[in-house]
Amino acid sequence: MAGAFWCIVEDDRQGRPKKVMAEILGEAARLGGGPVEAVWLTDKASEAGLTQLGELGATRVWLLENAAYAPYRSEVWSAAVAELAARESPRAILGPVTSRQREFLARLAARLGVGLAADCVALAMDGDTLVATRPVYAGKLLARVAWARGPWVATLRPNVFRPADAQGGRTAAVERPSLAAPTAQMTLVERREEASTGLPELAEAEIVVSGGRGMKGPENYVILEDMARVIGAAVGASRAAVDAGWRPHRHQIGQTGRTISPKLYMGFGVSGAIQHLAGMRTSKVIVAVNKDPEAPIFKIADYGIVADLFEVVPQLTTELKKLMEK
Ligand SMILES: Cc1cc2nc3c(=O)[nH]c(=O)nc-3n(C[C@H](O)[C@H](O)[C@H](O)COP(=O)(O)OP(=O)(O)OC[C@H]3O[C@@H](n4cnc5c(N)ncnc54)[C@H](O)[C@@H]3O)c2cc1C
Repeated sequence: MAGAFWCIVEDDRQGRPKKVMAEILGEAARLGGGPVEAVWLTDKASEAGLTQLGELGATRVWLLENAAYAPYRSEVWSAAVAELAARESPRAILGPVTSRQREFLARLAARLGVGLAADCVALAMDGDTLVATRPVYAGKLLARVAWARGPWVATLRPNVFRPADAQGGRTAAVERPSLAAPTAQMTLVERREEASTGLPELAEAEIVVSGGRGMKGPENYVILEDMARVIGAAVGASRAAVDAGWRPHRHQIGQTGRTISPKLYMGFGVSGAIQHLAGMRTSKVIVAVNKDPEAPIFKIADYGIVADLFEVVPQLTTELKKLMEK
């Protein structure tokens, strides 16, 4: 039987897989190239997390549970997964594009002596071979790549692949393989501090409010943060705002930033350049507020308000607050 498609679990560091895992597991199942299995490296898994992986379609979870796996260290993770891969011969090893998996899967591929297709936006089986599509030259071209030999290692861009539907009652067999004791050569993380905005992460959020150059300066984002807090949204930005140093790069939406697909995207003072749309056009509902009626964002917006955002945002926040309190 063909080897399995392994999906490396990205978790929330609290013992629960992140939402993006529905996309990775869903895509592995859709490819139909082999059994879908999850590999979870954690210091503490939760029963709820294991149930969730089963419901999302993993037939087996390789649970590598050890205090040495948190905080994440690429050399520890890659040694463990390389050892398991040598034993189990998976056909493919997939993970989401996150800061740690980007590094970990590159190191793992090097250790296995195989290629890595990074930041894939599409995957397909071509006969018996996996073919990956990935943007190159800042998204100007799409390259189709295949591997000279397996296992095929790839990182998948979040919010691009269709998520698996969770099916209650579907369960995964949990295997706890015995592996060589983890040895760390490096200790880098002494302390980890979460940015404490109290707002959800951009790539995981169901609602995103985004501010562009029309915000006029970094100090004005506080009005978007106030609104975001009311409705549980993440705050994003255009590249113009990021390049101006108003917001950190991890908040950038677009071709050279994050790809998002929330239930609701609201853009304030964002013109809707093609490179920005590339990162948010699959949002379910798009709302745009811009004082220029010709702004391109209105072409893809479901609801548009031609107005000064500095008048609209406080009013909207007040009304949303009333609605949320009902
Ligand atoms: C290779 C490449 C990659 C790129 N990648 C990205 C990317 O990943 N993400 C991205 O966003 N861009 C990207 N860009 C840049 C992109 O082309 C645009 O320059 C950028 O998106 C513009 O940002 P903006 O909409 O905030 O600014 P602008 O285009 O300057 O638009 C500002 C808007 O705010 C409106 N406005 C001003 N004041 C108010 C007000 N008081 N109330 C309401 N509306 C107001 C204006 O009418 C205007 O429409 C990339 C460009 C290149 C060449």
